[in-house]
Amino acid sequence: MKIVSAANLKKYYGTEPNLTKALDGVSLEIEAGEFAAIVGSSGSGKTTLLNMLGALDRPDSGTVTIDGSELTAMNEEERTVFRRRKIGFVFQNYNLVPILSVYENIVLPLELDGQPPQADWISQVIDALGLTEKADAMPNTLSGGQQQRVAIARAARPSLLLADEPTGNLDSKTGQDVMRLMLETSRQYQQTILLITHNDQIARMADRVFHLEDGRIRL
Ligand code: ADP
Repeated sequence: MKIVSAANLKKYYGTEPNLTKALDGVSLEIEAGEFAAIVGSSGSGKTTLLNMLGALDRPDSGTVTIDGSELTAMNEEERTVFRRRKIGFVFQNYNLVPILSVYENIVLPLELDGQPPQADWISQVIDALGLTEKADAMPNTLSGGQQQRVAIARAARPSLLLADEPTGNLDSKTGQDVMRLMLETSRQYQQTILLITHNDQIARMADRVFHLEDGRIRL
């Protein structure tokens, strides 16, 4: 089953003579359960692509279908609700809410969605990510690796996980630990992963690698 399907995505910034074709006709498909990586040099369009697939931004043209729903046909409010339910994000800078505890950060997407947090599920995910003793801690008291584990726990529920350089701010040993936990979590919760990376070692672990170059997928 295809969970991600993008057809002929285009996103241009600026106007001639300063036109940037951030995405210039990208099509891709990802099967449910796959671990796919996007690689490419800086400026090749990786983040722009992830933002389109995650409904954080809209393409100028082309379509994005996630789990059978066409994102590009939704209005702003529909996309927000869809994103909250269906897509988990892990960013390089963790993006935790600084005034909320570890526990509160993890349950935030559920609360925003009006769903009662299920205590069993939450304690299981907190435990799986080695955060039991940190549940009441504030993000600024955690190391980078711990903060990223909170971000992974927060993103563990949706079926699609989009990650933008998740180990980019971590030393290599911590980065490896975080990747291992992310892959374990994704298997446990049957998630599909699409991840941007500059790290060859991580890209080699992926089931599939998309190479972006000047806004296009290199075949
Ligand atoms: P990558 O993630 O591969 O480094 P990006 O997707 O961030 O690449 O950017 C692709 C191209 O689009 C770059 O040339 C970048 O400068 C340009 N770009 C991205 N976002 C914007 C924006 N909001 N306004 C203008 N140009 C942008």
